[in-house]
Amino acid sequence: MPLVLLACWGISRARKGNRIKLERRDFLKLATTSLASMALLESMPQTVQSASASNLIFSLPKSDFPQMAWTVDDGCSTESLESYIQIAIDNDLRFTFFVYSAMSPWKRRAKLLKPLVESGQIQLANHSHTHRNLTELSFAEIKRDLMNCHNFIEKNYDFDARPYFRAPYGALNSKVIQAAEDIGYTRPVGWTHSLVDMPTQSAKRLQYHADHGFVDGSIVLSHANNLVVSNNIDALLETINERELSLVTLNDVFT
Ligand SMILES: [Zn+2]
Repeated sequence: MPLVLLACWGISRARKGNRIKLERRDFLKLATTSLASMALLESMPQTVQSASASNLIFSLPKSDFPQMAWTVDDGCSTESLESYIQIAIDNDLRFTFFVYSAMSPWKRRAKLLKPLVESGQIQLANHSHTHRNLTELSFAEIKRDLMNCHNFIEKNYDFDARPYFRAPYGALNSKVIQAAEDIGYTRPVGWTHSLVDMPTQSAKRLQYHADHGFVDGSIVLSHANNLVVSNNIDALLETINERELSLVTLNDVFT
């Protein structure tokens, strides 16, 4: 089984044992990544840390009105990706999609998605081509993997995704940050809250994570890998509306 397939949740071709193992591992990573990334930063050499730490994005800048950025990673499921696009269209919402470019849905739904990218309603950002842990790759391999994703987005969407990238699993260190910087990806993006939208997630727990995550200044993470979010979208949108939150893309709030 190629690594790129195993890296996604809920891939039907993945053997059951592998899938469950991966879900648990990714669940833990999702739950701890923000802290882990900060911990990694703390262990960076001082010079790199001071140069790069200010570029890290984990939350939104303060604004006069309540706002949050909803970021959607991976894109392993065509149905799921399509549902997010439809949710954006139907409700006039703004999202940032972190593209895992080896996944075929990004090609399959390019025609539907491209007009929204062109208008700025949906922003695309780099989530690497093969979704490997970048900290385990060489400097050259990191650059190659991010550039392959960059070139895919340019070719299929005519969009320059720089400077935003999200390292798979949030695994960052000074080597990854420097390699990315060398090719123009100067803003690593983490997240404030995850919806923990694994395939087995219950509506109640999803809502629990939304209640905590849908707050002013938050960067929320979910995945276009299954239909957990779209199956519960009405309740999620109600929370956003009740709290009068505006959804913004990264380009809307960062310069
Ligand atoms: Zn991912």
